[in-house]
Amino acid sequence: MRILIVEDESKTAAYLKKGLSENGFVVDTASEGDSGLRLAESNEYDLIILDVMLPKQDGWTILSEIRHRGKQTPVLFLTARDSVQDRVKGLELGADDYLVKPFAFSELLARVRTILRRGPTRQPETLQIADLEIDLLKHKATRSGKKLDLTPKEFALLSLLVRRSGEVISRTLIAEQVWDMNFDSDTNVVDVAVRRLRSKVDDPFERKLIQTVRGVGYVIEND
Ligand code: CA
Repeated sequence: MRILIVEDESKTAAYLKKGLSENGFVVDTASEGDSGLRLAESNEYDLIILDVMLPKQDGWTILSEIRHRGKQTPVLFLTARDSVQDRVKGLELGADDYLVKPFAFSELLARVRTILRRGPTRQPETLQIADLEIDLLKHKATRSGKKLDLTPKEFALLSLLVRRSGEVISRTLIAEQVWDMNFDSDTNVVDVAVRRLRSKVDDPFERKLIQTVRGVGYVIEND
């Protein structure tokens, strides 16, 4: 289990990192909002512990950016503030829990375990980029209201690109996520699959959504 801590008070960050590491978690830390956001966007965490008052970018901004990009990583807010408005704001933005400083480490650990037991939360049911809409529950994709006839793998590939839109997804990552296999030796499989997907998602339409980043992978820009 991998946890990201975004906290500008170095003592608190070090104390949390030590405690969580001792309990078997792999922990990354960031002391500023923008570096925290970068880490959160470029890695897969099981949980993000987020301080509200941070230099560069506050915790609210980080959380809404993460959610805006479709990432459903659970977030536990850590803050010195204790007003009802703040708590409501955090929960509305999609925080999973809220812990007011000062707190006992044992309480933090209990909350962390509860959140992780619940697993990823609030999966959005539909994703949208331009005129492309994906219904994750019904496994249905449409463009301009027209249903796209996709195989399960094609649907998984398209969902991955849309869920992480704006991010260049490497062939290796696609192979791991869509085929659940390591295709290091033959990422050509990915290229073939993307070509087939394009023939359904992009070829019949004027606006092409799937872009190739030569030597790296594929991306769907989020407008
Ligand atoms: Ca702070």
